[in-house]
Amino acid sequence: MEILRSPRVTLIARPQFLEPAHLPVQWKGESSDGERIAEFAGRLCYMSQHNPAGRTTAEYLRNILKQGHGSVFEHSTYVILIEGISRSCSHELVRHRAGWGYSQLSQRYVDESHAAFVMPPAIMGDPELEAQWTQQVQAAQTAYVTSVERLMTRYEWVEDKVHRRKMAREAARSVLPNATEVKIVTSANVRAWRTMLELRLGEGAELEIRRMAVACLQLLQREAPSLFADFEIYPTTEGSEAGRVGFHKV
Ligand SMILES: Cc1cc2nc3c(=O)[nH]c(=O)nc-3n(C[C@H](O)[C@H](O)[C@H](O)COP(=O)(O)OP(=O)(O)OC[C@H]3O[C@@H](n4cnc5c(N)ncnc54)[C@H](O)[C@@H]3O)c2cc1C
Repeated sequence: MEILRSPRVTLIARPQFLEPAHLPVQWKGESSDGERIAEFAGRLCYMSQHNPAGRTTAEYLRNILKQGHGSVFEHSTYVILIEGISRSCSHELVRHRAGWGYSQLSQRYVDESHAAFVMPPAIMGDPELEAQWTQQVQAAQTAYVTSVERLMTRYEWVEDKVHRRKMAREAARSVLPNATEVKIVTSANVRAWRTMLELRLGEGAELEIRRMAVACLQLLQREAPSLFADFEIYPTTEGSEAGRVGFHKV
C-alpha cells in the first residue's frame, strides 16, 4: 500500500499572448505571457499602450493589484495537475467555483484496489498515530476489494463487463476513506487562483489543503511572479507553513 506525505503539483498549461500588431504596448522589463495579457487588458481600458509612466510589467501589475482592478486577471488561465491529495482535500478545493474547471479521477471507473492514501499532516511524525492510521486505511482497502469481488458476483447477470465493474466499484467505493488519493486537473484564471490561495493559505484553513495551496503558490510565483508577488509564505508556530496576501481579494 502506498502512503503519500506531500502533494505533487505540475503545470500542464500556461497562457499564450498574441500581441495585436495594431495595438503594440511599450513593454518594460521581463515578463511572461500571462503577465503581459493582464497588462495588455489593463492598458486597453485607458488606451495607455504608450506606457506614459514608463512602468515595468511588474510595477504596472502591482499597481493594478493595489487598486483592486481584479477583472484584468481573469484573462490568464493556468492549468495545474494536482496529485497526492486526499478525497477530502479535493472536496474542499472544488468548492471554489467562479473561474474554475475540474476533472477528477472517477472512483466509479477506476479500480481503487491499489489506490494510494494521503497521510494527514497532523498525524505525520507520531509513530503510534501513523501506525494506527495505516492499519485503518489498510482495513478499508481490504473491505473495498472484498466488496468489489462480491458485487461482481451479484451483478453476474450484467453482460457488459465494463458496466458490471462500474456498478461494483461505484458501490464498493463507499467504504474507502477520505484519505484515498485523488488526481485532479484544475484550471483557473489568475483572479480565481488568488481567491482560492488567499482563503486556503490562511491559518484557519485545514492543514492538507493549506500545504497544497503553498505548493500551488510556489509554482505560480515561479511561473508568473508579478501576478502573485504580493503573497508571502511564513512558518507557523506549530511548525507548518501558512501564507498571507498583500492585496486582499476584490
Ligand atoms: C477556513 C475555511 C473553513 C470552511 N468551512 C466550511 C464549512 O464548515 N462548511 C462548508 O460548507 N464550507 C466551508 N468552507 C468553504 C466555503 O464556505 C466556500 O465554499 C469556499 O471557501 C469557496 O469560497 P467562495 O464561495 O468564496 O469561492 P468561489 O466559489 O471561488 O467564489 C469566489 C467569489 O465569487 C463570488 N461568487 C461565487 N459564486 C457566487 C454565487 N453563486 N453568488 C454570488 N457570488 C458568488 C463570491 O464573491 C465569492 O467569494 C470553508 C472554507 C474555509 C476557507
